[in-house]
Order: sequence, then C-alpha cells, then structure tokens
Amino acid sequence: MVDYIGTARLRELVSRIGPARFITELAGEIEADYLRWNEFEKSARLASHSSSGVIELMPTSDGKLYSFKYVNGHPKNTARGLLTVTAFGVLADVATGYPLLLSEMTFVTALRTAAISALAASSMARPTSCVMAMIGNGAQSEFQTIAFHQIMGIREVRLYDTDANATAKLIRNLTRLQLPDLTVTRCSSTAEAARGADIVTTVTADKRNATILTPDMIEPGMHLNAVGGDCPGKTELHADILRGKDVRIVVEFEPQARIEGEIQQLGGGGQVTELADVLLAKHPARLSDRDVTIFDSVGFALNDFSSLRYLHRLNIEQPDGGQRIDLIPEPEDPKDLFAGLAQDRAPARQRRFA
Ligand code: NAD
Repeated sequence: MVDYIGTARLRELVSRIGPARFITELAGEIEADYLRWNEFEKSARLASHSSSGVIELMPTSDGKLYSFKYVNGHPKNTARGLLTVTAFGVLADVATGYPLLLSEMTFVTALRTAAISALAASSMARPTSCVMAMIGNGAQSEFQTIAFHQIMGIREVRLYDTDANATAKLIRNLTRLQLPDLTVTRCSSTAEAARGADIVTTVTADKRNATILTPDMIEPGMHLNAVGGDCPGKTELHADILRGKDVRIVVEFEPQARIEGEIQQLGGGGQVTELADVLLAKHPARLSDRDVTIFDSVGFALNDFSSLRYLHRLNIEQPDGGQRIDLIPEPEDPKDLFAGLAQDRAPARQRRFA
C-alpha cells in the first residue's frame, strides 16, 4: 500500500497548523536540503513544450529517497476556467524502488514556491525590507504574501495585475486572512507598485518574453523575486536589468536556470550564484545595501523533494495516519504476479491504521 495525499487531505493538513506555519516549516526543510546540496542527484527538468504551455517532469534523489513531480504551466488556461499550474508527485524508497507516497502537488507547488522565495529573500534582501510589490495577483499570490509577511516581516504589500478581478480576489483573500499589521495597497500600474518597494515579486503568467519590470523601475538596494519567468521564451525582466552594474543574481540550479530562467536572456554569459552557495555562506548574495539582488526562480526538483518528505512525515504523524491506496500489487508470491491479478485483495482505499 502507498500513502496518498489528495487535495482534501492536503487542505486538512495545512489547516491543522495554518498556512503560515506550514510555509515556515517547509522553508526550514528546503533550507536543510540545500545545505547538503552535494548529496543530491541534479538535472534540469524534462520539458515537453506545446504552443499553449509546457508539461515537465522533475526528478531528484539523495540516494535514500527519490522523488519526482509532474507539473504543467499553461498561461491561457484561466480563460477556460482551469488553473495555469497543476501538479502531483511521488516520493519513493531508493533501496526497494517502491513508492512511499503519491501526493497532490498543485497546492504544494504554491506553498513551496512561496517558501523558497522567502527563504532566498531572507539571505538576499536588505534585512530592513518591509514593503513588497506583488506584480501578478493570480493563484500563487496569496501564498507569496503569507510567506513574505511571516518570514521577511513584510508590512505593506502593493498589488498590481492587468486583470482587476485578480487583484480584487487577492484583496478579498488577504482581508479574510487578517495577517497582523499588513497594509494592502492597490496600485494602477507596475511602476506605481514598485516605486519605493524593498522587494518586488513578479509572478505573472504569459508565454512570451514579457517586460514586466524595466530598468527605470529598479531602485538601488531592491530585491527582485522573479517567479513567473520559468520556461524557454517566458521571462519577466527586461534583459538590461540583468546586465546592471550592481546586480547580483542567484538561481536554484544554474544548468536549469540557464535554459528556463531570466538569465536565458544572457546567452550563457553573466555571473550567477547558486542558492546553495549563498545558504552555505560560500558567496554573499549582496555586497552592499545599494546592490540589486535577483532571485531568478524557476522551481527546482529539490524544492519538491523536501516538500514531499515533509508532507509524508506530517501525514503519518496525524492520529488517523492518513489514507493508503493499492497503487502497487502485493501478490503472495512476488514471482507470481499473474496470480496476483486474479486475487481479490484489500479494498482500493484503506486507512493506514484501520
Ligand atoms: P495565474 O495565471 O493564476 O496568475 C498570473 C497572473 O498574472 C494573472 O492574474 C494575470 O492576469 C497576471 N498577469 C499577466 N500578465 C501580466 C502583466 N503584464 N502585468 C501584471 N499582471 C499580469 O498563474 P500562477 O499560478 O499565479 O503562476 C504565476 C506564474 O508563476 C506562472 O508563470 C507560473 O508558471 C509561475 N510559477 C513559477 C514557479 C517557480 O517555482 N518559479 C512555481 C509556480 C508558478
């Protein structure tokens, strides 16, 4: 039997401890894994592109556990009433190759992306940062706001989206959340939102080289959390921002970021640092308060590995132990798989400790 976390169970697990604590604990797990960066098998993800989007597989392993995530990115989906990003993932035991957990990862992707964004910012942004602009107010935006409020102490969030309904939705959700001491300001353009901000998060969706931020919007000392540019031909920052004199760029995994990140616009040039080196204090993310730092995030398999391991533990620690499904056959004689096909075994859905 394989542990199973569907969207209902994930909702249950997050609501037990609250999204802010969930994201904070997840950031801790992710950080712990980045601190043992060299123990992981790393590869750029396998992407299948189409005119409407991309479907990707993201595997990694530390020799004891293996994980992969299936994820898509289809910016036009929302016009059809569908999500831009959906995902599910598997955690497996390397010694036997058996899957341990099958989990939903659409919510988890939003939670872990917010967690790593805030984790990176905590080593990159000026420590006094308290105002964040949020450009793109879609599915990821509440998660990002919660993470930056909780981990970075952001006290004003300045919102802009080309779709006024998306901003209205974000304001509604943030009002309901009542994050302590958070001022929410609606802006009428990206430039207005970015003006005076310590941190600018770009989390828009458009399958093209967009220029959400242009050099005139960048102020000394800013930290840019560039989340939405995560595919070949899909970026958010004007290339001249990346070429700026006092700009420091940090990525998750350089070979993947060169293909998918903002830095694809540098054609193999430009100096970038991997997040692990910043967290391991091998390279400083900024040299002065006037440096502009950029976290060029595309989403790396390790973020999902940490999330699946954390979720698996959280799930089985609950008093009910969570649900298990019969994803893998359990024939009495492992050499007689055929007989297993005829056996009438356990019901398809079981409680772990039922
Ligand atoms: P979404 O479609 O729900 O929201 C995107 C929002 O961006 C929409 O409300 C849209 O109106 C807005 N937008 C588009 N163009 C804009 C512009 N020029 N100015 C302002 N707003 C604009 O998508 P989502 O699930 O929130 O994801 C956002 C982006 O983040 C996607 O591109 C997705 O691929 C990416 N993403 C990255 C990671 C990562 O790990 N780096 C993880 C998840 C999602």
